[in-house]
Amino acid sequence: MTQEDMQMLLHVAQWIRDQKRHAMRKIRQLAGTEENYLIIARELDRVNGQIIQARSVHAEATLTLLDWLLIVDFYQWKCAYCQEKPFEVMYHPIPLPRGGTTASNCVPACCSCRTRKKKSGLVMMELPRKV
Ligand SMILES: [Zn+2]
Repeated sequence: MTQEDMQMLLHVAQWIRDQKRHAMRKIRQLAGTEENYLIIARELDRVNGQIIQARSVHAEATLTLLDWLLIVDFYQWKCAYCQEKPFEVMYHPIPLPRGGTTASNCVPACCSCRTRKKKSGLVMMELPRKV
C-alpha cells in the first residue's frame, strides 16, 4: 500500500461517512483505480457485516470504514498478532457481546492467529502489541 493509495482510501472513506446512502458508482469514481475501489468495497462490506453482527447481540456498534482503514494501515495491512501474514479477518480482542464493534476493539488478524486466539480462551483479551 503506497502513501498515495492510502490517502485516496481515506478520502473515499471520509466521503462515505458523510453520505446517507452509499452510491457505489460514485465510490468507484472517487477511488480512482479499480484496485482502490475493490479495497474500499471489500472493507466497507466487512465493516458493515460486523456492525450488523454487533447490533444483533446488542453490543456497541460504532466502527466506521474510516476507523477501520486507519487501524489496518497502522498494522501495515498485516495481522496484528504475528505481524507477518497479510490480514484476513477482523478480530475482536474482547469478545463481541462485551467489547462491541468499535475502533478500540477491532484489529486485523490472519486466520491462524484468530483460531489460536479463539482456542486460548482467556488470552483472547490480550491486545496485540503495537508496532
Ligand atoms: Zn497472524
